[in-house]
Amino acid sequence: MSGLVFVFGLLIGSFLNVVILRLPHGQTLLGRSACPHCRYQLRVPDLVPVLSFLFLRGKCRQCRQPISWRYPALELVVAGLFLCAYLIIQPVTGLGVLLLAEAWVIIAVCVVTFVVDFEHYLILDRVTFVGLTALVLLKAIHYFIGQGAGWSWQDPWVSGLIGVVLGFVPFFLLWLFSRGRLMGFGDVKFMLFAGLALGWPNIIVALLLAFWLGALVAVPLLFLGKKKLQSSVPFGTFLAVATVVGLLYGNTLWYWYISLTRVY
Ligand SMILES: [Zn+2]
Repeated sequence: MSGLVFVFGLLIGSFLNVVILRLPHGQTLLGRSACPHCRYQLRVPDLVPVLSFLFLRGKCRQCRQPISWRYPALELVVAGLFLCAYLIIQPVTGLGVLLLAEAWVIIAVCVVTFVVDFEHYLILDRVTFVGLTALVLLKAIHYFIGQGAGWSWQDPWVSGLIGVVLGFVPFFLLWLFSRGRLMGFGDVKFMLFAGLALGWPNIIVALLLAFWLGALVAVPLLFLGKKKLQSSVPFGTFLAVATVVGLLYGNTLWYWYISLTRVY
């Protein structure tokens, strides 16, 4: 089963490569991919994740210009993360399958946001909102199959709502009071997604991590006199990393953090 999950991750990674390449330029996801140098249209043997790249030795079949190593690397990263989520959740029930589907949606949105924000200083609304919609649908199914845990933070909606309040509201206020100088509104919308995605307490772990990562990069830039942080720091890239870590290891890190602060 792990092998199947890995192959599925490779295929999704291959699709996400297309999303990352085309959406920031306003291109449609339909239509076949072509070599950027000679416009050679890729066919099925050129589209097998990772293997095609290895078989072609990283060069276009027709013009022999190099193909970026980023494509197979991203496919492997997505496959690895999909597998991690599968091994952590170990779905045996319908609920487990739903949680895994949620995790995969979150990972896919984060991988795209990570690369696109890093390259273009841009968080794509369409990606965030497709992710949000998918999460709401999955959580609705989760609720209707009777696994709501009552009025407690373990209920998918209560947990998600706490996540949204803790994740979205502070970022919205930061954006509002800095008049958009600290971060773009795309980051705020992404935090709406991340809050619903992670819920309590994982959102706290992600926020702490994001602020540490962001501060490590942003504070030196501030001292260098770059005032418009949102145009010089791809916050979405940090938020995406923090969200994936919060998703996969939020619980572990949370209890470790609690034990450090000796609250219990
Ligand atoms: Zn070519």
